[in-house]
Amino acid sequence: MRFLVVGELNPDLILSDYRSFPTLGQEVLVEGLDLMLGSASAICAVGLARLGDTVRMASKTGADQWGDFCIDVLARAGVDTSFVKRDPQSKTGLTVSITGSKDRALVTYLGAIATFRAADVDSGAMDGCRHLHVSSYFLQQGLQKDVRALFAAAHLRGLTTSLDPGFDPSERWQSGLRETLEETDVFFPNEVELRGLGGDPDPAECLRRLENRRTLIVAKLGADGCMVLDRGNPLHVPAFPVRPVDTTGAGDSFNSGFLHTWVSGKPVEEALRFGAACGALSTRAAGGTGCQASLEEAEAMIHATAGN
Ligand code: ADP
Repeated sequence: MRFLVVGELNPDLILSDYRSFPTLGQEVLVEGLDLMLGSASAICAVGLARLGDTVRMASKTGADQWGDFCIDVLARAGVDTSFVKRDPQSKTGLTVSITGSKDRALVTYLGAIATFRAADVDSGAMDGCRHLHVSSYFLQQGLQKDVRALFAAAHLRGLTTSLDPGFDPSERWQSGLRETLEETDVFFPNEVELRGLGGDPDPAECLRRLENRRTLIVAKLGADGCMVLDRGNPLHVPAFPVRPVDTTGAGDSFNSGFLHTWVSGKPVEEALRFGAACGALSTRAAGGTGCQASLEEAEAMIHATAGN
């Protein structure tokens, strides 16, 4: 087992192409309906499995049909779900997304996402793993305060660690994150999260403000690519040119591609390029797991661009 992903599990119910956006007291019709695996942690886990990695997910859902759905999608993708707890006291979280061509509104019920704690992760989950990844730090209100200790335990057992903050619904951007970064090897904020955490419009300046002695901070900048600091200087890798259908979960697929490469001991720049290819390829279809890259597809995209 190469990867352990600890994190939230929920389906996304996507109502697409509304005729008019709903307002209070009205009923509106939509053209499309899809039920897909949501949750940043799960999308990253499926992305890694798609790249051929062995992946285990530790999580918690309710003992309900939404939980069945998530576990079934993960298992069909080849992810080991034997460490997903079913809690009859909680309901599985759910996001309802009302999307149009220009904008979307998201409504989330947290349920088991908020009550999931490190104590729900059985000690055997790390057995045989080389790397531990956690996404949606701010959303996982129960797990959040335990991430630092979980990562410290992982380090003692020889695993490396990575964290994706996700958006902070409170927009305070604190919740012990700085302290958690002291036990984090790779940190993956997107542009909005980086600005919230670093407090400056310039991504490079935010990276400087967040720097510590341990963490490699990877800034994901959407169509502008990605960036790290290399001895204080920005190292920028551009995005691959694509015509995106849906950018949902691009950052999670980027994480999969980056980690797949970085955990193998390859140079950071190579990991950035592979992450960028996986991020770009994931935008080919709706939903986070609709069209994630295979190893061959990501390599082909990199070689095709290198030849130009
Ligand atoms: P998030 O989904 O977390 O907001 P980003 O939007 O920054 O993260 O996407 C992650 C990565 O995926 C980017 O760094 C980029 O490499 C790739 N990507 C995202 N959107 C596009 C796009 N429109 N065109 C090409 N690549 C993209």
